[in-house]
Amino acid sequence: MISNKMKTLLVGSSAIRAMFEEGKRLAAIYGEENVCDFSLGNPNLPPPESVKKAIIDVLDEDEPTLVHGYMNNSGYEDVRAKVAESINKRFGTSFAEKNIVMSVGAAGGLNVILKTLINPGDEIITFAPFFGEYRNYASNFDAQLIVVPASIPDFQLNLEEFEARITPKTKAVIINNPNNPTGVVYPVETIIGLAEILRKKQKELGNDIYIISDEPYRELVYGDVEVPYITKYYDNTIVGYSFSKSLSLPGERIGYLVIPDEAADSEDLIGAANVATRILGYVSAPSLIQRAVAKCLDEKADINFYDKNRQMLYNGLTEAGLECIYPDGAFYLWVKSPLESEFEFVNMAKEHQLLIVPGTSFGCPGYVRLVYCVSPKTIETALPKFKALMEELKK
Ligand code: PLP
Repeated sequence: MISNKMKTLLVGSSAIRAMFEEGKRLAAIYGEENVCDFSLGNPNLPPPESVKKAIIDVLDEDEPTLVHGYMNNSGYEDVRAKVAESINKRFGTSFAEKNIVMSVGAAGGLNVILKTLINPGDEIITFAPFFGEYRNYASNFDAQLIVVPASIPDFQLNLEEFEARITPKTKAVIINNPNNPTGVVYPVETIIGLAEILRKKQKELGNDIYIISDEPYRELVYGDVEVPYITKYYDNTIVGYSFSKSLSLPGERIGYLVIPDEAADSEDLIGAANVATRILGYVSAPSLIQRAVAKCLDEKADINFYDKNRQMLYNGLTEAGLECIYPDGAFYLWVKSPLESEFEFVNMAKEHQLLIVPGTSFGCPGYVRLVYCVSPKTIETALPKFKALMEELKK
């Protein structure tokens, strides 16, 4: 008999599976090339060539017992030193090897830091719309996820509503910049405002409140948009990074946490994150890809590819009459549902062989999310279908 918690999760996950099955059903009827799947954030770009070379070099040059062996649970010391050096060079910080804990992607890093921080009943605040897994990660540690309502229409952080939700039980705030699902980037003034509120509340309540900055899309920004490095604005910040999107390596499961010396109880946090990595069953981040990414820290995915897709999808959908948030980062387009129930819109889209995700999955009904980490052909095929769908809605 499965646990009560898992019973609920199983119901949720069959909804995702249902979407996947629906894609297969539509492909069987209309042909795979006519089904446009905008549901999954799996990069369509291959990793940069240098990643393959780095993997081969590691295998050729490093001692096999080192490459495939156990290591410090926080990761190889030389890899962590290189990661720290690369962050310092780019953002003017002063981290050392000890401040870096290699993780099993962003998801692994988030679970490690929550295991490190959370007591049952603690509250974690996040902002709608948010990556739906935060709810499950909070539940893993019996924390309550408190959601700040979306700030419509700009989808920036609603700081007033945020402040109103801070209580003596608040332990952490998760923010995701650039944001999945909106593609919005929070500028430095917003981060300074967030930090001011938190400093004031920490003083008032006599508690430490940590920002957990979930940053798998840090490298995916367009034009001259900048993503602030939050440790520079707020001491109690922990950064969770991932190479899943920046180097198109989601299956390799590699990322890291940054735990600054300035964070309260930082030595304990670093030690506990090391233990959490072990006892959650990860033991460590995968060894070969750790050593390989350390050779590719200055590389990133071809942002021009995503930029072209971004323009094509945004322009096409806007022309079709849909209201879209212009994304400054990540590879998602956040679209207002033309029907009150976005589920009805998602179902109608399916009839046109368009697979899109309801905003309710991100805690924000009335909207839908499309990914544009797809082939340009998928977007070309989809645009006339969206036009036809919008025409049908006018009838
Ligand atoms: N956080 C956000 C906001 C994401 O969108 C994702 C993946 O899509 C993750 C975390 C998990 O990323 P990873 O594959 O690095 O575990």
